[in-house]
Amino acid sequence: MSRDLDSILRSPKAYEWARVAIDAMEQNRVWPTALNFELWMHYVASKDSEVATEIGALLKSGAPFTEQAGEAIAGKHLPSAKLSGEILNAGKNLTEELENVSRALESARESSEAYGQQLASASKSLEHDEDAEAVRAMVDNLTVATARVRDENKSLESQLAETNDELGRLKEHLETARREAMTDGLTLLANRKAFDETLDAAVSGTAAGEPLCLAIVDIDHFKTFNDTWGHQTGDQVIRYVAAVMARIAQPGGRFAARYGGEEFAVIFPGEGRDAALGALESAREEISSRTLKRRSTNEDLGAITISIGIAEQLPGETAPALIERADGALYASKRGGRNRTSIAEPGAASRAA
Ligand code: GH3
Ligand code: MG
Ligand code: MG
Repeated sequence: MSRDLDSILRSPKAYEWARVAIDAMEQNRVWPTALNFELWMHYVASKDSEVATEIGALLKSGAPFTEQAGEAIAGKHLPSAKLSGEILNAGKNLTEELENVSRALESARESSEAYGQQLASASKSLEHDEDAEAVRAMVDNLTVATARVRDENKSLESQLAETNDELGRLKEHLETARREAMTDGLTLLANRKAFDETLDAAVSGTAAGEPLCLAIVDIDHFKTFNDTWGHQTGDQVIRYVAAVMARIAQPGGRFAARYGGEEFAVIFPGEGRDAALGALESAREEISSRTLKRRSTNEDLGAITISIGIAEQLPGETAPALIERADGALYASKRGGRNRTSIAEPGAASRAA
């Protein structure tokens, strides 16, 4: 990279570049995901970077800029996720800064208006005073000057309103990008990235003596299901299980995510193993007792089952260690015959429920 994007992002021109990137993305019909935005910031602000060269070549070839193409370029050339966080923060900082400017301008307008009124009343009080002719002329001049200042302020304000509109658009784009970066496209459940962040926050935010549970859920024999009914019908099943998991979730509390292909995870902040077991056992029973139908043909697909592993955080246990124990419990459920829930014991062994 001949120009360091990192330093561009901290320069006064950062917002200009962000707007150029968004416009270029819109022109090329590129979704404003966080990753795409990061790539396109490179493309517009760091023209001779490897990322920009690759994007340029792709556009020149006439091929569409697909999600896979973007991911491939990012995988090859982007050094870390750090940048993406910074880009996402840019919109927030920008809006805050503009709100400050807007407030400053409003108060400038108000004080200039007050100034004009003061002068006008001073002029009036001098009207009947012959000796004050010269003073009144001066005051009149000042009144004209003040009106001009007020007009200037008004045009400045309308300029600012335009800029604010543009920034509103940018903010919306960034918020969409931030949300998309945390959402699984197939199920619209939180994705792995969101899960990792939420679990880290839950682990570090749990006070000593307060419980925290993690469950990992895996669809049984899903490869066979896909092989029998096809991948698309498999996708419908993943969406169905996701919907059941989503019903366990609670705003600001229980958190459900798609953990991987046909695996889900549920975090239970402030809840112990019994609460987690209760919620998941009803989900498991609901799923196993439902006969699935293929949407297009109404064909009977039978029922599917899920296996579950639950682990309750041990004092001082880290997120990876907790995941490992929940995973261990899940495998105990698989070994035990599937369609069941196991709870991880503090040691390595797990018992089936
Ligand atoms: P087990 O009971 O031991 O979990 O067996 P399994 O067949 O479910 O396990 P395995 O991990 O071998 O297979 C998981 C399958 O899930 C393989 C893969 O094709 C499928 N899968 C993963 N992600 C998706 C997806 O997004 N859509 C569809 N349709 N299938 C997926
Ligand atoms: Mg699996
Ligand atoms: Mg499976």
